[in-house]
Formats: sequence, C-alpha cells, structure tokens
Amino acid sequence: MTDLAKHIALLEGHLARFRKDGIVNLIGGQDVAGTGGSFETRSPVDDSLIATVSRSTAADVDAAAKAAKAAFPAWAAMDGKERKKILHRIADQIVARADEIALCECWDTGQAWRFMSKAALRAAENFRYFADQAPGARDGQTLHAAGQLNVTARHPIGPVGVITPWNTPFMLSSWKIAPALAAGCTVVHKPAEFSPLTARLLAEICRDAGLPDGVLNLVNGFGEDAGRALTEHPDIKAIAFVGESKTGSMIMKQGADTLKRVHFELGGKNPVIVFDDADLDRALDAVIFMIYSLNGERCTSSSRLLVQDTIADDFHARLTERVKRIKVGHPLDPATEVGPLIHKVHFDKVMSYVAIGKAEGATCAAGGTRAGETGWFVTPTLFTGATRDMRIAQEEVFGPFLTSIPFRDDAEALAIANDVAYGLTGYLWTENLTRALTFSDALEAGMIWVNSENVRHLPTPFGGVKASGIGRDGGDWSFDFYMETKNTSFALGKHKIQRLGA
Ligand code: NAD
Repeated sequence: MTDLAKHIALLEGHLARFRKDGIVNLIGGQDVAGTGGSFETRSPVDDSLIATVSRSTAADVDAAAKAAKAAFPAWAAMDGKERKKILHRIADQIVARADEIALCECWDTGQAWRFMSKAALRAAENFRYFADQAPGARDGQTLHAAGQLNVTARHPIGPVGVITPWNTPFMLSSWKIAPALAAGCTVVHKPAEFSPLTARLLAEICRDAGLPDGVLNLVNGFGEDAGRALTEHPDIKAIAFVGESKTGSMIMKQGADTLKRVHFELGGKNPVIVFDDADLDRALDAVIFMIYSLNGERCTSSSRLLVQDTIADDFHARLTERVKRIKVGHPLDPATEVGPLIHKVHFDKVMSYVAIGKAEGATCAAGGTRAGETGWFVTPTLFTGATRDMRIAQEEVFGPFLTSIPFRDDAEALAIANDVAYGLTGYLWTENLTRALTFSDALEAGMIWVNSENVRHLPTPFGGVKASGIGRDGGDWSFDFYMETKNTSFALGKHKIQRLGA
C-alpha cells in the first residue's frame, strides 16, 4: 500500500462519525446543533461532501457567551499551576492525535501532508509554551514613589471571542486559544466556515483533557451571522481575530457599541528583497519556500520578490526552472508540495489575478493554469517584470503566486517595499550588515527576517503594522491583550492632603 493509500484509509476512519452525525457546536461541555440549520463542508481535492456543519445563529452565540460567562469566575480564580497542568494535558492529547488532526486538515483545506503533519505538533508546542507561562500570568510590578507604593497585578479580561480563518486553522486557533486559557479567560471560538473539522477536534481534545465545561465553547457558522453576533455580544470583552483586513474593519465597527478590545492579525503583501551581495543559493530556496509552501495561503508568505537588477535575469532563470518542478498533487501524498486551494471561490480569485497580471503587461514565467480537471489545483505561478503599481504587486492574492519586481539600489528597493497598504513581514537577503540594519530599521513591517525564511520563536512578538493588523501575539504580548492591568497605590505614612472647605 502506498503512503497515500494508507493516509486515505486512515482518513476514512476518522471521518466516519462526522459523515454520520455532522459537525455540531460544543457549548458548556454539551454537543448541540446550531439553530440555523446546517451547511456543507467539501473537500477541495474533489469537491466531495465531508460533512454537514451546524449553522449557528445569534441565539447559539448567546448560549455560548453565557456558558463562557458562567465558567469565567472559577477558571479565572484557579491557581495558575492547575491551569498549567490542564494545558499540558491538552498538548499531550494533540501530540497523541497529531496524525488524525493533520489528515483531517489536509482533506478539509487542501494543505499538503508534509506541512500539516508538523503544524499539529507546533500547536502542541504552543499549548506547552503558554502552559508554562500560566503560573506567572498575573504577576506585576511594584513602582515606588516618595510616600507611595504602587503595586500592579494583571487580571484576565473575561470571556473572549476568537474568530479564525481557513488557512492552517488548527495551528492558528492554538495561537489564540492557548494564551487566552493560560491568562484565565474563557473562550467562544468561531472557526472559518470553509474549514470547520479540526476546530471540532480541538474542542473535543480540550474537553477530554479536563478543561472545565464552558471554558472553551465552539460555535460554527458564517461570519455575517455567528461571527457578527459574537463581535456584538455584550458579555464578550475582547475579540481576537485572524483574517482579511476588510473583515477586521467590519469587526471594529460591529464591536464599537460594546467597546470591544480587538486584536487583529490581517492580510499581507510581504516583500522578500534579494540584493546582489546575498548568498543566492540560500535566498533562492527561501524565496520558493515562503510563497509556495502551504499553497501560498499564508499571511506571512513572501508574495513580492524584489530582486536587484544586476542579478535579476540569472535569478529569474533559476527560479523559473525550480517553480516549474514543484510537485502539485493530492494533499495526503507525502511527496506533494502544493495541494488544491481551499474552495472554488478562492480558486476563482487566484485565477482572476493570472488574467490581471497578463493584462497589466507582466510576464507569466511559470504556471498560471488549472492543474487537473477536478478539485481546485493551480500550478505554481510566477510573474516577472512587474512594476510596483500593478494590482499583482499591490493586492493580496493568497495563493501559490509570486510577483517579481526589479530594483536598482537600496533607496528604490525600500520605496517599493513600503509602497503597499500592508506591513506584516519582510525578508532581507544581504551579507552587508550595515545595509541589513539600516534597511530593516526603515522597512514598514511588524516582523523582519534577515537571511532567513520565517522561523518563529514562540516568545517573540507576532503581528503587523498598517493594514496588516493591530496588536501582537506571542510571549507576554498575548497576556497584555487577554488581561487587564490594575494598579493599587498604597500611601506610605500620612502625607498632607489638601483641605477644601475646611
Ligand atoms: P476572512 O476575513 O474572510 O474570514 C476570517 C473569519 O472571519 C472567518 O471565521 C469568517 O467567518 C469570519 N468573519 C467574516 N465576516 C465576519 C464578520 N462580519 N464578523 C465577524 N466575523 C466574520 O478571512 P479568510 O479568507 O478566512 O482568511 C484569509 C485571510 O486571513 C488573509 O487575508 C490572510 O492574510 C489572513 N491571515 C492573517 C494572518 C496574520 O497573522 N496576520 C494569519 C492567517 C491569515
């Protein structure tokens, strides 16, 4: 039996119960169907039905918010060491079920097994990282002044809403949910409608690991009803959102009446800048990895290549040859490097940018076609000879689609790099330390990697500037979002108080 056949057989076993019972909500520890009927989740591999999914209404979101509110006092008051134990048990169960999670995620999203098998383990690491932070989450500072001692302490903000997108949904959910739980918050999670499978697995894992009922609640459904209701709910104190920039704007408006605290991780059009003094072999590997891994459906993808004109022709020739050799195939085949895009809607969007790029006058050097007759496969696409004002150089395509723009010198590279609405990440390839320092200082991005692809160290801040987001995830930055800081001031002795009306 091939690895692909083995994976398909295993997947069938995992999907059987979902095919039979559908994917339902988990509210207050109970499995409950949404009151708005159901919708279908289909595989991008062949458009076949995976399962029906609860379509939740404002009433379901209200029930979930009430469950989260009821569970909050006890969870917030629990000793951080106890929360730590529960979060480690969640991590243990994720590791134990990592293959099941990866198989389901590949089938639901089209992501290739080679990446998803690692993503589940990465989510477990994230739970472990925040488990270890839980005992110290409430710690504060003492700030001394003449005659006064100030003591700060952090308190969990309350029940929070977590709204996640369809790209690498299990790992991204863990980035939001693990720190919220470690901080002592309770959660209502609304996963993306295109990829509900592994959010259900995460909710089950948390329940089985002993997370008290109501601490994590799952409501499935569409953004415009379930998502909207969550952002408007008065008992939900904050919204952690990952998704498109325009959805972030909508959520900010929707949350205005209830003064929601928001944390946004949004879109990107990230530059990878290759100078002629770079280690070009390593730069080439990283350029390819950062746009064609994860089907290019990753916010941190380097979707704009800025390459110095002195090396552009040679670099493009090597790049084109490699891109044409990338293996497009079944996501459960370990040899596959690029799988199908999540959904027909997204496939149509990516293909529309092929037409736009050609109409704008850029050169389609590789790909730009549908692969196969069924499923939403796109051949890895490379456009060269683009200019900074083109739509393929400005707008987020979110697929295996790279736009290359040549530049003359540092000043022009910086001007092009910053000339977009987004500012999530940037990647610099140069052996010149002064150039790396001055360039990264001026580059408008929340995260920059020098001579590296995206290698994330969990305690570091993750987030973007401009239209790419508000706030930071990771390390203590996550607790700043999920907690309120309270200052209590003690008078030392009896200082003089102004006497009015005396
Ligand atoms: P999306 O904005 O369409 O949807 C994300 C989530 O928001 C879904 O759960 C959706 O149901 C919900 N939603 C939609 N409308 C809503 C509303 N009015 N109120 C409340 N919720 C609503 O995004 P997507 O297409 O699922 O994901 C792709 C996008 O996510 C890309 O732009 C990508 O760059 C971005 N992303 C950013 C990061 C980051 O860290 N910056 C990480 C991953 C993905």
